[in-house]
Amino acid sequence: MDNSIQIPLDLPDVRVLKVSKTKEGDWLIRVESTLKGTNCRKCGRKLTQFHGYDQAIRLRHLPIFEQPVFIELRPKRYKCPDCRGQPTTTQRLSWHDLRSPNTKPYEQWLLKLLVNSTIVDVAKKLDTSEERVTGVIERRIATKVNWEKFQRIEILGIDEIALSKRTSRLCGAHNNALDTSRS
Ligand SMILES: [Zn+2]
Repeated sequence: MDNSIQIPLDLPDVRVLKVSKTKEGDWLIRVESTLKGTNCRKCGRKLTQFHGYDQAIRLRHLPIFEQPVFIELRPKRYKCPDCRGQPTTTQRLSWHDLRSPNTKPYEQWLLKLLVNSTIVDVAKKLDTSEERVTGVIERRIATKVNWEKFQRIEILGIDEIALSKRTSRLCGAHNNALDTSRS
């Protein structure tokens, strides 16, 4: 094609296998890890004995020209010859958190979009669910209050309390954090 361009994927330790468009019009980028080995989840030793691939996972990634992008990867699994029962460990990649449905660059971008926006706004803009946005906040932002850091608590206005309660509820933090404040 005359008007196509090539840009680097910019995710470390992977090789692109195939790029295609889904029926929904999203970009699907299939990748494989180029990293060899991982550390045993039990004993921590470096494992090199390849056991096989996990089921493919599809992760939401940064959009390209406003088209949604998904990265598909089959994580590698390694066997520990030293631990009892020879357990296997799934290899992790630096740009993905275990159990997250997104890549890390996507989650960081989503957090930026939350500046001066509500969770509902961001979910709409990204064509995703509020639960997914909340999930990103829970993974990326500490929601516990460290009371040691406060010497005294200023009197909060009603709006601030309402806002804080809403934020903490949405973040899954304890709702009563403010009610039980040691003022
Ligand atoms: Zn082990």
